[in-house]
Amino acid sequence: MEPEVVFPTSVKEALAILDGHPGDAKIVGGATWLMRAGLRGDKLPTILVSLARVEHFTSISEQSKGWTIGPMVTHEDLARRFGTATPLRALGQAAGLSANPGVRRLATLGGNIATESFAAADLVPALVALDASLTVADSNGTIRFSVEDFLHGRSYRSEACIITGIEIEDTGYLSAHARQTMRQAGEYPVAIVTVAAKLSQDRRIEALRIAVGSVEPTARRWEALESQLIDQALDSAGIRAAAEANLGVFTPREGVDAPSWYRLEILPHLVCAAFAEIGKQVQG
Ligand SMILES: Cc1cc2nc3c(=O)[nH]c(=O)nc-3n(C[C@H](O)[C@H](O)[C@H](O)COP(=O)(O)OP(=O)(O)OC[C@H]3O[C@@H](n4cnc5c(N)ncnc54)[C@H](O)[C@@H]3O)c2cc1C
Repeated sequence: MEPEVVFPTSVKEALAILDGHPGDAKIVGGATWLMRAGLRGDKLPTILVSLARVEHFTSISEQSKGWTIGPMVTHEDLARRFGTATPLRALGQAAGLSANPGVRRLATLGGNIATESFAAADLVPALVALDASLTVADSNGTIRFSVEDFLHGRSYRSEACIITGIEIEDTGYLSAHARQTMRQAGEYPVAIVTVAAKLSQDRRIEALRIAVGSVEPTARRWEALESQLIDQALDSAGIRAAAEANLGVFTPREGVDAPSWYRLEILPHLVCAAFAEIGKQVQG
């Protein structure tokens, strides 16, 4: 039986539907993950609670301190808004490089973050590198978490919760996203690196966040490499050597798409590609 799709117009109404049908109702964004539930052997819920009509959920608002992005903003919208030279370039690149045009038109930021057991989510390492926060609502109220805390399910993640907003501060960092697929663009990436960096006038790395996706089951920062690269110049050979020396912190996953060793081998190359892209942004 096909699920019924309902269209609440507020978070309160959406939460009431979830709470009224425990285990039977699920939030749906663009449905690009949920539509393949059958292929993965997952059961679809009886009720899909669409967020498409909730006010402000499809908008991006820019304030003096940064951005608030609605959970229903699509990959296509993110690529269009942030794909060129802005501080959130990595997020725009992550969105623009993901999937294919048809999927990008529907797939949402909220869905990318909330999809469980999806190691290859492109937007997630970009959000981690950009130090993004999430506002999450459930029947107990609204609470704000870092994306990293949300991913690791630290203490709060109830079944019936809704990501209601994604906040990113304007730190003035430059950022870039690099991903590797096995055969062609449009596939899930087998490894992802996002770099967000603040550079000094003489192009040394003053502050840095590096996030790695698709290598382990959950995206995370590469703190060992970050600390090694602080105060270093944007020098490709030095960056590659530091990345190679710090691969041991990962426990790469095996998969049908790529063997575990390959996910590690490719990381130094992706780190260099992301820094090269940042170097180009400095040159303007
Ligand atoms: C052909 C194809 C190629 C793809 N390639 C890529 C790729 O290269 N990179 C990539 O990252 N992804 C890829 N995807 C996966 C998918 O498109 C993305 O993960 C997308 O961002 C999911 O968003 P959605 O809105 O469609 O999620 P949905 O399918 O609507 O939902 C996914 C999950 O998130 C939950 N959810 C959705 N919104 C919220 C919210 N606001 N609050 C709480 N829970 C929520 C849903 O309940 C569900 O569990 C691909 C998919 C397809 C079909």
